[in-house]
Amino acid sequence: MPTAMITGANRGIGLELLRQYAQQGWRVLGTCRNPETASAAQALADAHDSVSLHALDVTDAAAVAALAVSLDSSRIDVLVLNAGVMSPGANTLGELDASAFLHVLEVNVVAPAICAQAFRRHVATSERRIIVGMGSYLGSIASNNEGGLYSYRSAKAGLHAIMRSLSVDLRDEGVTAIAMHPGWVQTDMGGPDASLSTEASVAGILRVIDGLKPGDSGRLLTYAGEELPW
Ligand code: NDP
Repeated sequence: MPTAMITGANRGIGLELLRQYAQQGWRVLGTCRNPETASAAQALADAHDSVSLHALDVTDAAAVAALAVSLDSSRIDVLVLNAGVMSPGANTLGELDASAFLHVLEVNVVAPAICAQAFRRHVATSERRIIVGMGSYLGSIASNNEGGLYSYRSAKAGLHAIMRSLSVDLRDEGVTAIAMHPGWVQTDMGGPDASLSTEASVAGILRVIDGLKPGDSGRLLTYAGEELPW
């Protein structure tokens, strides 16, 4: 049974990843800050023996390291670095708050790098060996003609750079690392006017992950399998 690990699995895209991987019969390790209050994820864990929830604030490097040790014998076929934030306090020129900005970078850039580092061996010893960073069209510098969103755009551009470096550094270990744009998705972050349901976005993401070849490593792909410019 293949194994997926999803960070930020209690709501939004992460919760739907947990649900669809469980439906496909995968073993799924979902992480979230507070499993006790993650009722939808907990219901999935109750319904599927193959789903487990693990407490993890991705910005807590010691907790990340401890989880990696506790999962020592587990192999992770697909690691999805999904947890992310957008902060209104660090998006608009004239209103940028340094600590809000740093928090966005901490969650969206530093934490995925630390998680990839911690779970690298679990992925590299698995069969599929895939790491997906949940990036964004908004992190595509070439596509930025609207400006604004300072912290979010720079954080996602940073995450894209991390996924590219992972693709190079882990090539010899047979790991495929990509950045993924999930589309504009109806979640707390995407808002109700977003064009895609979580179900449609995640169905596309799983199709793309399933079709990945080693030669795709280092690419920035959308949920529909299209390539985005950096
Ligand atoms: P949501 O805001 O709905 O969910 C964000 C998730 O990240 C939650 O599970 C949240 O947990 C978790 N998270 C935030 N901070 C931390 C932390 N410090 N430690 C652990 N978990 C944390 O967002 P989406 O589901 O929409 O987004 C998921 C990913 O997709 C993000 O990386 C986002 O940037 C990206 N994305 C989303 C798009 C969209 O249109 N929705 C478009 C492009 C990219 P908690 O409940 O504890 O806060």
